Amino acid sequence: MLAAKDFEPSLKIAKFGLGVWLLGFKSVFLHVKTNQLAIVNTPKRIAVLGATGSIGRQALDIIAAHPERYRATVLAAGRRVDDLISLASIHRPRLAIIADESLLQRLREALAPLGIETAAGPQALACCVEADDVDTVLTATVGYSGLEPTVHAIRAGKDIALANKETLVVAGELVNRMLADSPTRIFPVDSEHSAVAQCLCGEDISRVERLLITASGGPFRTWDADRIARATAADALRHPNWNMGAKITIDSASMMNKAFEIIEAHHLFGIAPSRIEAVVHPQSIVHSMVEFTDGAVKAQLGVPDMHLPIAYALGEHTRLAAASKPLRLTDYATLTFEEPDPVRFPCLGLAQYALERRGTAACTINAANEIAVAAFLRGQIAFGDIYRTIEKTLANTSFVASPDYADYVAVNAEARAKALEHIS
Ligand code: MG
Repeated sequence: MLAAKDFEPSLKIAKFGLGVWLLGFKSVFLHVKTNQLAIVNTPKRIAVLGATGSIGRQALDIIAAHPERYRATVLAAGRRVDDLISLASIHRPRLAIIADESLLQRLREALAPLGIETAAGPQALACCVEADDVDTVLTATVGYSGLEPTVHAIRAGKDIALANKETLVVAGELVNRMLADSPTRIFPVDSEHSAVAQCLCGEDISRVERLLITASGGPFRTWDADRIARATAADALRHPNWNMGAKITIDSASMMNKAFEIIEAHHLFGIAPSRIEAVVHPQSIVHSMVEFTDGAVKAQLGVPDMHLPIAYALGEHTRLAAASKPLRLTDYATLTFEEPDPVRFPCLGLAQYALERRGTAACTINAANEIAVAAFLRGQIAFGDIYRTIEKTLANTSFVASPDYADYVAVNAEARAKALEHIS
């Protein structure tokens, strides 16, 4: 889990006899004159995994706008080779990787003339994070695929800007065990967890009473259970506030995303599951809150815009000027909060189940959910079948109480096969 010290502003501040405070970003001092210091900042080198997705593209916006701070040295994508080619042409990384090996030739032909190295396959994607020219890994891939590169990044001692919440959902205990023996720091990108990290700044973690993770409620917040069960992919993809990738948008509609975020919060901040609650907040202005033992509640507010949490994570919990549009509170006459409804949104209850059962329970839930969401998007199953597929898969998949990495791999594969069997 994150140590309490990680909530302190992590910019190292160096004071010199000249009375000048300098921000120390891996700075190289060139020369010292009588009353000034000249510094050259070495840009932080970032591997962007999931470069063609919504988070990856927004991160590349930030990187390109701040060349003095950041440089993208590795771009990786799953299957969208044309998008990867155009992003690599703009951002000029050293290396571009496509997970689907059948697309390597196309990638190579397009990027070799630009002097950009290319590679393909899940193994290349996982291992690229270990390269010497990578300081921070932004994990913005979708689903279980984020786990292996994260494990490699921790082994190599790289910092992680974590957008792929499934990594912690599937294997949070393993990740935390590995972090204990590694210099790696994790900076959450998920807006709710970024909000919690911001609220915890300067606080004593032992004084936390509750984490209140806000949820928009998604497009079905006001629908009755029957209508939700019959919802189409087009209905579910119509998120009221956030413009995101398809998988997370469906997870938001089912509130599986909020269940995952409760699990993610537990592993990131080390707060007991009974002290983490979801609160429906349809305006998506309050990004999450922390209640303290004295009754104080801190919240982080902002317009729904992922640029801010991405910039806050890449900056190691420091602030970038104008990272997102300013919030004008008077544009929002009312901010409302509701209890979530676990009957209409049964996926939400899976968080408590997974955190009580521990072991590979959440790994199975995630695998079944990935298969079910893909089937729903293909029109093979109804929206209501997503939860049923997860329930059925949980009942039929092996459970390992104290899993190691190989157990997660095996249970993930078994759960996927069981979920597919159930669907067909
Ligand atoms: Mg979120």
